[in-house]
Amino acid sequence: MPVDINNIFITHPRCRELVLEAEFAGFPRNVCSWIKGIYSTVMEAKDIQYVIAVTQGDCSFTHALMEIFECRGIKTIPFAYPYGRDYDMLKLQVEKLMEYFGTEWETVWDWKEKLDAVRRRVHYLDELTWRQNRVRGFINHLYQVSCSDFNLDLPGFAQDLEQVISKAEGSPPEHGFLRLGYIGVPPICPDLYDYLETIGARVVFNEVQRQFSMPFVAADLVEQYRQYTYPYDVFARIKDIQEQARLRRLDGIIHYAQTFCFRQMQDLILRERIDIPILTLEGDKPDRLDARSRMRVDSFVQMLKK
Ligand code: SF4
Repeated sequence: MPVDINNIFITHPRCRELVLEAEFAGFPRNVCSWIKGIYSTVMEAKDIQYVIAVTQGDCSFTHALMEIFECRGIKTIPFAYPYGRDYDMLKLQVEKLMEYFGTEWETVWDWKEKLDAVRRRVHYLDELTWRQNRVRGFINHLYQVSCSDFNLDLPGFAQDLEQVISKAEGSPPEHGFLRLGYIGVPPICPDLYDYLETIGARVVFNEVQRQFSMPFVAADLVEQYRQYTYPYDVFARIKDIQEQARLRRLDGIIHYAQTFCFRQMQDLILRERIDIPILTLEGDKPDRLDARSRMRVDSFVQMLKK
């Protein structure tokens, strides 16, 4: 059963301690907390047999992390998203993964059909958020980000999702809040969403989380993974953000940047290319939103309200 280790880490009751444990094990201070959390989560779990490491398109720390896992006796399987979205190279990567796990295209297609059916319902939940104003920003974040592993229980996830959808359909639409977009990697301080709602703003677009739900379902699996914006260059992300900002009538955007993440550099391009107000917010350790960030968020929301 595949699991997204990020999800296990961030929902772990001791997630702050997991970061510290990695530092005690020797991880440098200037390595992102997600990486440290992933390391300690894998070390603590007794049932993780292999780690699929995305060696291209995800994180610049992955290579070194793979090497550390190898030294700890944990098997790693590389997967690389080709720069430039080359179809044949991506297909080769998929086929290598299939070969590793001894599976056939028929099985892959069967699973794709099952997963796409649930993804479509997550897309509907997203519509209930931005088109009908019936879903809170955090719920939108949670169900989309969970599409990376469907909480290890596809039928259970689908059932839970249906309950959330039916509750949203039965509740009145909420109006009068500022409409915000959230771009960048998922936050290490997820209380951001609820805090925004207390000051009259709601996230109605979660960029990367929406990508995890694959909102561009294609008949061909390789094509579907080519359309996925997150692992490729920033320019396709910008196009997607601009389209969604217009469609969802966003008043502003919060760009979340993780401390020590190489993706922070892309803030420069995002600010140059996206023509609505952007607040860049940095988070480090898993925790509640700190006082300084709250003040910056307050000022941004106040400025947009004027
Ligand atoms: S936040 Fe950045 S540095 Fe940290 S794991 Fe994600 S991509 Fe890597």
